[in-house]
Amino acid sequence: MKQRPFALLTLFCFATAAWGETMQVRHDHDPWGKCEGELIIGQEGIEYRSPKKTGHNRKWIWQDIQSVDRKSSSRLSVLTYEDQKLRLGQDKVYDFELMSSAQTFSDETLALISGKLKKPVTDRVTNPIDAEYQIPAKHKHTIGGCEGTLYFSPEFIVYDSEDPSNSRKWKKDRDVANIWSSQRYELEIRTYEENRRNFDKMRVFRFQLKEPLDQAYYERLRRELP
Ligand SMILES: [Zn+2]
Ligand SMILES: [Zn+2]
Repeated sequence: MKQRPFALLTLFCFATAAWGETMQVRHDHDPWGKCEGELIIGQEGIEYRSPKKTGHNRKWIWQDIQSVDRKSSSRLSVLTYEDQKLRLGQDKVYDFELMSSAQTFSDETLALISGKLKKPVTDRVTNPIDAEYQIPAKHKHTIGGCEGTLYFSPEFIVYDSEDPSNSRKWKKDRDVANIWSSQRYELEIRTYEENRRNFDKMRVFRFQLKEPLDQAYYERLRRELP
């Protein structure tokens, strides 16, 4: 019985983690291999604990995280500031995959993370939004592209691609720097998405539009954005 107060105290400490979420995940190693453990998203930051691969245990407070990328509702990448010595100091990314379909990286979880980070995030999960305007488009890649639809709502711009890894959901006031159209069949969306190849960390998405862009809507959007 003597241990009881201590046990209660431990419980209390976990309870104060408030919206802390613990998820069973697989940590995918780069370029191969994996370990398994728990991902804890809490008030102070994100923690990974692997019972077997303790060398991979990490605890990042929010300021140690550059960004996160919700690759799907079961996959989340954490971009840290840790140098990778073997890769000329490139910052290290940790990829986590949920082990149970009962858990998801939900919109709420991502909103909480981005609120704590106070930074843009990458979101490839394009749940339907209440679009006030939409237009079919082709996203231009360096070679070729992918096709999909652009959706616009008061809060978000979504590109829903045939290739899910190319889909994006941008929160206008968090992820979008500005938009630009040089002619009515083209639209550029300039985002703050973490892009390690560019120093300025701005990533431009160029779209060919399959229908002419509504000029009045475009002008309204331009006025809304900085
Ligand atoms: Zn690992
Ligand atoms: Zn694309």
